[in-house]
Amino acid sequence: KQEELLKLRDAEDVTKDGTKVELLANIANLEDLDSVLTNGASGIGLLRSEFQYLGRENYPREGELYRVYRQVAQTMGDRRVVIRTVDLGADKQANYMNLPQELNPAMGNRGIRVCLDRKKMFRAQIRAIYRASIYGNLAIMYPMITSMWEVEEIWEIVEDVKKGLDQREIPYKDIPNGIMVETPAAAMISSELAEKADFISLGTNDLTQYVLAMDAQNPQLERKFDRHHPGVLRMMEMVIKSTHEAGKKVLVCGELAAENVMIPYFLNLGVDALSMAPACILPARKIVRNLDLRKVEEK
Ligand code: PEP
Ligand code: MG
Repeated sequence: KQEELLKLRDAEDVTKDGTKVELLANIANLEDLDSVLTNGASGIGLLRSEFQYLGRENYPREGELYRVYRQVAQTMGDRRVVIRTVDLGADKQANYMNLPQELNPAMGNRGIRVCLDRKKMFRAQIRAIYRASIYGNLAIMYPMITSMWEVEEIWEIVEDVKKGLDQREIPYKDIPNGIMVETPAAAMISSELAEKADFISLGTNDLTQYVLAMDAQNPQLERKFDRHHPGVLRMMEMVIKSTHEAGKKVLVCGELAAENVMIPYFLNLGVDALSMAPACILPARKIVRNLDLRKVEEK
């Protein structure tokens, strides 16, 4: 069976009726790069950059961040790599940051909220990504957005970083900047967010826990944690629709993107890309290639 799947490594991600989708990989460290290539991913849809910040004594330096992004860009060549700026806080704590203990970490200071409080750290990462951009096909996206003011503040920082690079004549590409929609507030303002962003990425893991108001890590809620709750599905449909109305692409990451039943569902909604664990790519490709959306609609 594995041999049969491996034959699909270079096959196109297209359904029987000709609908195209990009199947991208989620990675959480450099060791994962191998499996991205062996599983024939069209690119990396989510590089979780936390590994660069965790399990160490101090903030990583810009040069260190840059070298990793350059290596990933060079390895992937023309294939797209979406780097998510660091999503610290909640269950991912770096001791050197001395973030205060929180009663409700999942609802607390995490992701972009922390980055906008620690601008020096945030700028270093954005600068490192832009410096590496000339070596491949990079994009950036920002996690845990809830409000327009955050996006405005990020765009100002990005412009300022680019200006700094211009002044020092450091080359970079004008790479796409995307917004993650993984809070209900962001989903409700997704039209406005999509207007401002180059693309939208649906973070289904966090969106589900915040729509259900259930901690995804609480074992007592395991059986009640309904990943296919109509509230979650309707909210995702709304985001996909409003993003397309704004003329932008929508990528889905998070565990739902790799589920057998969800792949036809997302394709039917016109999702542009699905990003998943590398091991899920070939099975997903098989599903995509056997799918006929004309038949899905008739059901
Ligand atoms: C998500 O929330 O769906 C997501 C992709 O981010 P993470 O799982 O890293 O929180
Ligand atoms: Mg998330």
